[in-house]
Amino acid sequence: MPTETIFSKIINREIPADIVYEDDLSLAFRDVNPQAPVHILVIPKQPIPMVADAVAADQSLLGHLLLVAAQIAKAEGLAKGFRLVINNGEDGGQSVPHLHVHILGGRSMQWPPG
Ligand code: C5P
Repeated sequence: MPTETIFSKIINREIPADIVYEDDLSLAFRDVNPQAPVHILVIPKQPIPMVADAVAADQSLLGHLLLVAAQIAKAEGLAKGFRLVINNGEDGGQSVPHLHVHILGGRSMQWPPG
């Protein structure tokens, strides 16, 4: 059973967040420490800790998160482009063990990421 994280508290409205999208499977909110003019996190309501923990039964949920991210990017006016990032584990720079897709946009991105 995955441990409850701060993102579970956001899903359950136990702590506030600037929520921009919600459906039965996912929630999206603005990152509290934005790294770009638009920085939104898309999370599954199901608390999968990281993408490495996902299983075959999660296939459609994972696809759903990307489709939601693309829909939000469009709604945010990111027609020139945007970046989606999924940090996984310690070396991946993941700090919250609840799977999340970062949507970053509103500026030109650099490559490689740090
Ligand atoms: O990929 P990583 O785990 O590092 O990303 C976690 C993100 O969650 C950070 O960008 C952090 O700013 C964000 N966060 C948030 N609201 C919280 C706690 C963390 O937006 N209450």
